[in-house]
Parts: sequence; structure tokens; C-alpha cells
Amino acid sequence: MTYQNYSLAQLRQADAAHHLHPFTDHKDLRAAGSRIVSRADGPFVYDMDGNEILDGMAGLWCVNVGYGRDELAEAAFEQMRELPYYNSFFRCSTPTPVLLAKKLAEIAPDGLNQVFYGSSGSEANDTALRLVRHYWALEGRPEKNRVISRDWAYHGSTIAGTSLGGMAAMHHQLHGAVPNIVHVMPPYAYELAEAGESDEQFGLRAARALEEAILEAGPDTVAAFIGEPVMGAGGVKIPPASYWPEIQRICRKYDVLLMLDEVITGYGRTGAWFAAQSMGIEPDTITTAKALTSGYQPLSALLVGDRIATALVEKGGEFFHGYTYSGHPVACAVALKNLEIIEREGLIERVRDETGPYLGQALREKLGDHDLVGEVRGFGLLAAVEIVKDKKTKTRFDPVGRAAGLVRDHAIANGLMMRAVNDTMILSPPLIWTKETIDMACERIAKALDLARRDLQ
Ligand code: PLP
Repeated sequence: MTYQNYSLAQLRQADAAHHLHPFTDHKDLRAAGSRIVSRADGPFVYDMDGNEILDGMAGLWCVNVGYGRDELAEAAFEQMRELPYYNSFFRCSTPTPVLLAKKLAEIAPDGLNQVFYGSSGSEANDTALRLVRHYWALEGRPEKNRVISRDWAYHGSTIAGTSLGGMAAMHHQLHGAVPNIVHVMPPYAYELAEAGESDEQFGLRAARALEEAILEAGPDTVAAFIGEPVMGAGGVKIPPASYWPEIQRICRKYDVLLMLDEVITGYGRTGAWFAAQSMGIEPDTITTAKALTSGYQPLSALLVGDRIATALVEKGGEFFHGYTYSGHPVACAVALKNLEIIEREGLIERVRDETGPYLGQALREKLGDHDLVGEVRGFGLLAAVEIVKDKKTKTRFDPVGRAAGLVRDHAIANGLMMRAVNDTMILSPPLIWTKETIDMACERIAKALDLARRDLQ
């Protein structure tokens, strides 16, 4: 029986009665009812109230090739018919994860030639945490097990993901974090740069917070630093150009592994396969998920550098870790086809040369002067708009989050799906957006800003 046999009211009622949603205030949800999205095509999603909404978030930062790709459905169908599932434990393999791993080694930054699969970004970060600690233990240095992360980082929602992340609200509900994870300041110049401090100086200062933390803990106790090249869920916080080279230098100096979380930035979003390549970072691991399949199947891939992989192979014995769905043949078949589409359609080049630069420029030109806009920033197809009460002093509206929440609600009502993190508006659209789609989005945001300003008066 398909959903078409149910009315929208019946679905909403069943949703409220039986479905606990992620990151949701359930009392609110029950009072307001959910928006039920039932189909999508190209850059648009359609809800059951009859609205067509331009999806400025690519689902949840993942639908890079856009919706309605029959080729991906066919890849899944064919694989399901041939072999819907088999495991990759106990020296078994199936063809599609093998071919995908080979492809990922080709497109990854140099020196990352091995892949460990999971189904989600959170799982991949759990794997990454276990792997870096295991690595140092194999090297005979088990005390080198601390991991340094940043406030505002988002690394997923499992206990390890939450512990690695730097979201205060999530930590409050954790009731016992994974030990030996510490957090330093994020490279968020808009709020944290001091008066008169240049972007470059701020980037260096933010990076040196890592060095201070390493020295405080003792370099012999620090296994790794983890960071998103551009912080996503924390509010599209784009680091100054001086930040990552300094982080890299510090990691090398103290022999601290560098773990990049590219769950959002991977697979084209920054105008290269990986932001590591856009930004010249040379990591030891890269966590990827989401756009690996453009969200058409759950799949994550932890890309592992040769240093760690060699120790694992040569000194490791059995690595007691893995998931039933590690290397799921259907998810891997979809990922292979998805990467083929990204390549065939030149989506990465389009972001790098055309839509990436244009998104930032258009948002700045069309919205930068609005009274509510404190800053516009963009990197590839990631962008943020800071909502403020006073542009000069950067004062926010009270309570935090109300103003951006209003802008978001008006944007959605005017046909643009956006997200608000506190008072930062966020865009992370599918890579199929054109300059015209960007113009359409800007018009809708401008209208939402005007309506929010009216509500805030
Ligand atoms: N890491 C980053 C940077 C993310 O943005 C996310 C999800 O948004 C995750 C990890 C967790 O991925 P998942 O929700 O697939 O577990």
C-alpha cells in the first residue's frame, strides 16, 4: 500500500503519533505538524500542500546532482536484482565497493589510497576516531590518544560524533562524552576577530589555538586534530586563507595526524573533488558521506592515508571494527554512477569557474546592503548570510535565532528552502544550480529579508 492511499491529514497525524524526528522539538512538531515532501525534480522539491520549493540546502547538504536522476535509480535496481546484499567481512568482497574504492583513490588527494565504508558520516567519524587511536597504539604509543577539535564543529550525532563535535547543546545531552577530546576556538572571524585584526592575522591566531592546546596537553599525548575545511552545520564558517596552512604546519611539527571531515565539502561542493584540494591541505584521513551518492543511498567512505593504512596492514592483525552495511553493494553502485554523472556533466568545473564565484558575488551585490545583513560569505556552493540588528556593532536581535528563524520561514513560504543556525542563514544548493537559479534564490531571500524586517519592527 503506497502513501497515495492516505490523505495529507492522515499522514501528518501518523507522523505525530509514531515518528520521532532528528533534531526536532517534538512538542512543536506536534503542534505545527510536519511539512511532508513527497517528490522532487531537478532543483525543486514538492510538498503535499502543493508547494514547489527551490532546494537551497540540497536536501541536507547532499543532493549534489539534483533530484530525479533515473540513472541512479537504474543503478540501484540493477544491483539489487543481481546482488542486493553481501557482506565484506571475513575476506569477502563484492564488485561495486571494490570499484568504488579504486575510483575514490584516483580522485582523492595524493597519498589517500584506502577506503573504509559505513552508512553515515557519523559512523565514518567513529571509524576515523578508532583508527587514529589504533594507529598510535600500533606504533607503540598508546598514550598518544587525545584528539583536538573545535567549538562549533559538527561531526555527527553518535556518541563519538557528538564528542568530537563542538556543539554545546548536544554536549549538554551527552551525559558522558568519549574521553580525551578537547576543543579549541573556531576560525570564525565575523564574531571572534578583534578590532583592527586582519583576516590573515585572525586566521593565524585561530590556528595557533591548536598549538597551545597541543603544548598544554603535551605533544606526546595528542593523536590528531579534526576539522571541517569549512564548518557547515556550525554556520558555514569559512576560515581565512592563512588558517589551514598554519594548522598543517603545526600538525607536522608535533607529529599530530590531520583528520579532515569533508562530509559536506566532499564531491564537488568547493569546486574540486575535495576541499583538501581547493585549499591545499594534506590530511591523513578524510571523512566523506552525503554527496558520495548525492543522498540517493546512505553511504560513507573514510579515506585513509598510506601512513595509517600501512601500519594497519603490516602491524595490525585484525581490526575489530565494521558495520553490516560497510561496502553495501547497492549504495556503492549508486555512488559509482553518481561520481560518473558529476564528472560527465562537469559539475565540479562549473562550481569552480562559474557558479561558485557567482553565488558569493550575487549574494553580496543583491543582499549585502540590506539593513538586516551583517555579512555575506561564500566558498564554492556554500554560503552564509549573517542576520543582525545593527550592521556596525554586529548586535543581534534578541532572543538569538528569532530573526534568522523568521527569514528562513519567509524564504520557505516564498519558495526557497534555507536553513538558519542561530542567526546565520545558510545555503548549500545542488551543484546543478545555474546563474539563473542563483538569481532566483537571491530574489526570494531579498523578499524574505524585507518581510522579516517588517515582523521585527
Ligand atoms: N560531519 C559533518 C561535517 C556533517 O555535516 C555531518 C552531517 O551533517 C556529519 C558528519 C554526520 O553525518 P551523518 O548525519 O550522515 O551521520
